[in-house]
Amino acid sequence: MATIPLVDGNLRWVFPGLEHTGEVLDLVRQADAQIRLLAGHLGGRASGPGSGIEFHRLELGQASLFGYAEAGDVSFVVQLWFPRRCAWDLSTGPPWEVNGEVTVRCDAGVDCGPHFIEELTPREFDSPTDAARALAAAASWLRQRGTAEPVYSWRMRDPRSGHD
Ligand SMILES: [Zn+2]
Repeated sequence: MATIPLVDGNLRWVFPGLEHTGEVLDLVRQADAQIRLLAGHLGGRASGPGSGIEFHRLELGQASLFGYAEAGDVSFVVQLWFPRRCAWDLSTGPPWEVNGEVTVRCDAGVDCGPHFIEELTPREFDSPTDAARALAAAASWLRQRGTAEPVYSWRMRDPRSGHD
């Protein structure tokens, strides 16, 4: 899988049938701006590679949109993707699924994966515009949540912290 900055990619990797990219691109850029603001607030990189919304592109050409900001053990993630059965599944949307989540890294002896602290209920959309609007809304939610609380409070809210 390749990670490609929003400006270097093509929305038709995600939405193959998209005729005019304008409105969808505007919405994805709104999401991008929210993730950069959050990354800047958290003291991470607000510009350049590894910030904002990026394409995660598979070998066969399909891509999802992925936004990520982190501080210490806490990760803030938004995603717009087509749920695939496996890496060789050639399907693309519709529908497209959008989700957003705040997780902390597992702090147990054996890493069980991220611990979910807050997440949006994943939603599916049949239209690229609706999906992109939901991505922008999810990114906005993430920025609000990420700036509303100090970073350490997320770990304190982790009910599974230090589990067996
Ligand atoms: Zn764990």
